[in-house]
Amino acid sequence: MSNPFSESKNLIVFTGPSGVGKGTVLRAILGHHPELHLSVSATTRSPRPGEVEGKHYYFLTRSQFEAMVAQDELLEWAEFAGNLYGTPRQPLLDRIAQGQRVILEIELEGARQVRQTAPDALQIFIAPPSLEELETRIRKRGQDTDAAIARRLARAKVEIASAHEFDVQIVNDNFERTVKTLEEVLFPNSFGAAGASPSIAKALR
Ligand code: 5GP
Repeated sequence: MSNPFSESKNLIVFTGPSGVGKGTVLRAILGHHPELHLSVSATTRSPRPGEVEGKHYYFLTRSQFEAMVAQDELLEWAEFAGNLYGTPRQPLLDRIAQGQRVILEIELEGARQVRQTAPDALQIFIAPPSLEELETRIRKRGQDTDAAIARRLARAKVEIASAHEFDVQIVNDNFERTVKTLEEVLFPNSFGAAGASPSIAKALR
């Protein structure tokens, strides 16, 4: 069977450490561009206050998640901070078949898997200005235990060290600027020469 994702430029992978502000930036972009769609992931994590089943995630038990893996219903999946997360394949196939652009907001291991299945997907990494700033943001969110924060920070170090694997890296030091830079990356034809913006960090140290 041919791989419907192999040449798809309509897949956009958005990765960055937990707490970097990916969700807030994405909500702004999706608010401005209703033609973009966000893939809803499956997870074994418990819902946070305010999170809605089918909107933020499909909240599954571990055995339900494992059944999806066994039936090859996930495009990619990974364990993150003790929970499983994955991208349901069928809704994505439906969107891609309709020529729609879909954003996957996923962690590093998943992004690496997507790189194998969909090498033409645009891979974007969003980085914090510093690890200290990231810790402050995670603590302010107040939704995680100390142990969970420690796991997320350890993972953040690994993710930041892998930023160079991505097509584009953006440092989220200013919300408005990050949204604008991301729009330039996603809609280069509306902004003149692709990738010409000096605000796109070409490399992270
Ligand atoms: P959170 O628990 O904060 O919602 O998400 C934790 C991490 O899991 C984030 O880095 C998020 O991007 C990632 N994540 C969310 N959905 C998926 C998914 O479907 N696959 C993978 N690989 N990671 C995901």
